[in-house]
Amino acid sequence: MSASDDCLFCSIIAGRIPSTKVYEDDTTYAFKDINPKAKVHVLVVPKRHYADVAELAADDPAELAHIVEVAQHIADDAFHGAFRLVFNTGLDAGQTVFHVHAHVMTGEKLDE
Ligand code: IMP
Repeated sequence: MSASDDCLFCSIIAGRIPSTKVYEDDTTYAFKDINPKAKVHVLVVPKRHYADVAELAADDPAELAHIVEVAQHIADDAFHGAFRLVFNTGLDAGQTVFHVHAHVMTGEKLDE
């Protein structure tokens, strides 16, 4: 794990690249996905840089649990608590940004 100047989400967290903030606390940042796949599509990220969810779970499981809590709060506000949580992990699973992020999709009934 090492934060890098060329990490897109590190730059968003630092405010060097603009984002639409949904939630922030000492360890965690949430912002709207630029290409939403649901009525409400938010990315929840730890402020510390981890490449993927497996790295985060191994190093800081409490932060991973906190990300789930934040997702729940977003869904409580947006859609009576129902949400889909996705961590694409690895190139072949569709991960394109290698700073772990939870996709929180909610705000409408989702396809099965
Ligand atoms: P991944 O494919 O699981 O790595 O997800 C990366 C997500 O980041 C995609 O859903 C993109 O739409 C989103 N994304 C990429 N650049 C930005 C940005 O600058 N702001 C907000 N979301 C972004």
